[in-house]
Amino acid sequence: MWPWSSRFRTATVTCLACGDNVSRSTAREYDKYGDRWDRTDKAFEHLCPDCHTDLCHHPRDELEDLLVELRAGEEETETFLEGYLAAVEDRYGRVEEES
Ligand SMILES: [Zn+2]
Repeated sequence: MWPWSSRFRTATVTCLACGDNVSRSTAREYDKYGDRWDRTDKAFEHLCPDCHTDLCHHPRDELEDLLVELRAGEEETETFLEGYLAAVEDRYGRVEEES
C-alpha cells in the first residue's frame, strides 16, 4: 500500500488475523502447515501479539472444554477427528513463545 514498504519488509509484517502492521520482532510466526521446523522455502505468516494470545495461550486443562466444544461423541468420528486435530494444532502445535 505504501510504495516504500517493500524496503522494510524485514522490519514490519502484517497480522494475518486482524491486518495490523506490527514489527517483525514483536510478531509471532504462524505456520499454516504446522511444521515450523522445516523452514526451507517457506514464507511464514505472522500474527500480532494480541491475536497470537487469543489463538494459542490456552492452558492444557481446557482439553475437556475442547472436547465438548467439538462435540465429541456426537459428531461423526471422522468429522470430530478433523476438527480436533485442527484445534489442537492451533492451540498446542506451536511452542515458539519466546522468540
Ligand atoms: Zn492481529
